[in-house]
Amino acid sequence: MKRKSIAFLLMLSLFCGFLFLFPITAQAVGGVGIYVNGEKVQTDTATYVNGTGHTMVPLRFVAEALGYFCHWDARQNQCQIQKDDFTLQMRPNSKLAKTEEKSAVMPAACELKNDRIMIPLRFVAETLGCSVTWLEQYNRILIEWNGQKPQLTSELDLSGKTIVLDPGHGYWNPQGLYDPGAVGPTGLQEQKVNLAIAKRAAVLLQESGATVIVTRENAEDGMSLAARAAQANTADIFVSIHCNANDNSAYQGTATYCHSDSVRLKADLELASYIQDGVVASLGRKDLGEIKGWFNVLRHCKVPACLLEVAFISNPTEEKLMKETTFIENAAVGLTNGIGAYFAR
Ligand SMILES: [Zn+2]
Repeated sequence: MKRKSIAFLLMLSLFCGFLFLFPITAQAVGGVGIYVNGEKVQTDTATYVNGTGHTMVPLRFVAEALGYFCHWDARQNQCQIQKDDFTLQMRPNSKLAKTEEKSAVMPAACELKNDRIMIPLRFVAETLGCSVTWLEQYNRILIEWNGQKPQLTSELDLSGKTIVLDPGHGYWNPQGLYDPGAVGPTGLQEQKVNLAIAKRAAVLLQESGATVIVTRENAEDGMSLAARAAQANTADIFVSIHCNANDNSAYQGTATYCHSDSVRLKADLELASYIQDGVVASLGRKDLGEIKGWFNVLRHCKVPACLLEVAFISNPTEEKLMKETTFIENAAVGLTNGIGAYFAR
């Protein structure tokens, strides 16, 4: 059953990618007309205003009209536009846009509509060095390139924010016993996956201006749970990073936990929901949602705190994924996206 649904998702993503790469005969579909540098853009997906009042346009048609090459990567669930030495990457259901140097939170998440990536108009136009004019009486949007080089004006501004990332386990307890965390069916140690994700997310968050404290640097220098949480007391948020495990190896998916007795439970759940959304959108694993539980490491925190379980290391499929750099990157991007969206809320 699970295998079937994974195969279906895989086929669906390949199909979407196929459509993206080989657009069907383009034709305008009612709605608002988009003009780029005076030329009408022929699209097969109508512009619309989304639930938060942002005008969403099909990225491919606008970008191509401006001379960009557009590429959909089904495997990484991301699209990229590129011209000369400028590339911009986005993912469906994510507010994060990335160039090679920096990332920004868009005012609205990319949406998939008729297998097209829809993107907030003003964001994409301004990033690509264009001005936008709305001619209401003609129901037209005019996009004019103003001669400027494309550049991402970083809206993901985390300057002044301090974030503690806690890669779980990797700890020698006072009795001299080593804690590697859960161990996967082929012997992969959880502490290793947690550390790789934390280190990559730390880089991404620092690029956005945040101060990031990672509670351990290697496989063995983890502190006690109370000492880890104590690091959070001067920070804005605390996120502990783990891999889930269960005796039933069929269990799979992403979950974010909060400490149920926390006086900040509401604040913790809010942080958890942004992180859960970001990581699920980026990793594409089953969404197990936000879950309340008893967590010693969170219990000691005095700031909004949650514990991310990226996937199940006890599940052979997810353990295999955890060995791939793509999975680590996607988990780190999803976590960064979630944290960025939390602070931009
Ligand atoms: Zn763990």
